[in-house]
Amino acid sequence: MITSSAAPVGALGELLAASVNPNMGGWIGGPMANEIEAQTIRWIAELIGYPIDCGGLLVSGGNMGNFVGFLAARKAKATWDVRAAGLMGEKSRRLRLYTSSETHTWIHKATDMFGLGTEAIRWIPVDTQLRMDTTALRKQIQADIEAGDLPFLVIGTAGTVSTGAVDPLPDIAAICREYDLWFHVDGAYGGFAAVLLNEGKEVIPGDLKGISEADSVAVDPHKWLYAPLEAGCALVRNPEALRETFSFHPPYYHFAEEPSTFDYHEYGPQNSRGFRALKVWLALRQVGRAGYVEMLSDDIQLAQELYRLVEAHPELQAFTQALSITTFRYVPPDLTPGSQEVEAYLNQLNAELLTRLQRSGEAFLSNAVVRGTFLLRACIVNFRTSLEDVEALPVLVIRIGREVDVALRPVELNT
Ligand SMILES: *Cc1c(COP(=O)(O)O)cnc(C)c1O
Repeated sequence: MITSSAAPVGALGELLAASVNPNMGGWIGGPMANEIEAQTIRWIAELIGYPIDCGGLLVSGGNMGNFVGFLAARKAKATWDVRAAGLMGEKSRRLRLYTSSETHTWIHKATDMFGLGTEAIRWIPVDTQLRMDTTALRKQIQADIEAGDLPFLVIGTAGTVSTGAVDPLPDIAAICREYDLWFHVDGAYGGFAAVLLNEGKEVIPGDLKGISEADSVAVDPHKWLYAPLEAGCALVRNPEALRETFSFHPPYYHFAEEPSTFDYHEYGPQNSRGFRALKVWLALRQVGRAGYVEMLSDDIQLAQELYRLVEAHPELQAFTQALSITTFRYVPPDLTPGSQEVEAYLNQLNAELLTRLQRSGEAFLSNAVVRGTFLLRACIVNFRTSLEDVEALPVLVIRIGREVDVALRPVELNT
């Protein structure tokens, strides 16, 4: 779970948006509000180094932003009229998509909801840093083409939800160009870290540059832009691709056909829409690029500091550190990890530790499971988190870890 602390200006945005209550489904429902959303989209694109003449709109969150990219890919790459004939028409072919085994579960929902079925997903293995293995990707695409299927989409993740891993996005982009596949980036959590790319800060992976090459991108203002829930965002390189994916022309809509206007209901799944853009626009106006550069790099540096503290402590074992996520676990000093019995016990111990820590109210960690190992996961998306908080955490975890160990240790593991 990635849940940030909302910036106060967002609450003002929600109050004002609800008071004016424009309907963002069509330009006529609130011309100025619609222009503010369009400007917000351009600013978000600019922030992450995406072409600012892209299309896009605000949606409820990362799932929905990813669904929009998924549907645009399906429409653009199907070799038949998929919107009319669906997936069972005479000319239909079996669609295949590619994503790493670390991808967020939105992809299950997308393939299910949009009729492909979860078996259309090719799960590509990851390397030791939990990034997509592009050699395996290429092999799988090749095999599917040879089998007569239709590969159409590769999803790269910019910041996986469990550990913050960033896939090798430029390599994936090159493979997509080679095979004429749609390249979608799920940057719901980590996409905004691309704002740090040209800041000379070495805190983020250079692979985030690959976002600029994507056909579509999902980012979540309600995560690292500190907007209150709900605010997701879908960006699409070719704005027409969205219209081709979502537009219908029912007779009961008679909006003026002025070239300068646009109706968001033609560019996304929603009809009536709220003025989500205002809270995001206000936050961008309030702190600007410089503010986000500072807040995001603070979060990342705190997560890195936590990793150093954990590594230095003999009762803690550090596992991963990427973007603002650090994973680790408690290991009693007299136990040697590795054997099946000890690993099973450590999983049980750390799961109970996490429950007690969460109930203590003193800190909130979540969990990650990396290759079968249950880990404590600190994900810092909070501009209020301080160095003192981070320094207090290992002490707290060790205290609870010792208590749980005394309560749970099976006799056969006593040395
Ligand atoms: C959070 C997240 C999602 C889902 O976003 P919601 O805003 O919760 O719908 C998808 N992908 C990644 C990588 C995420 O971190």
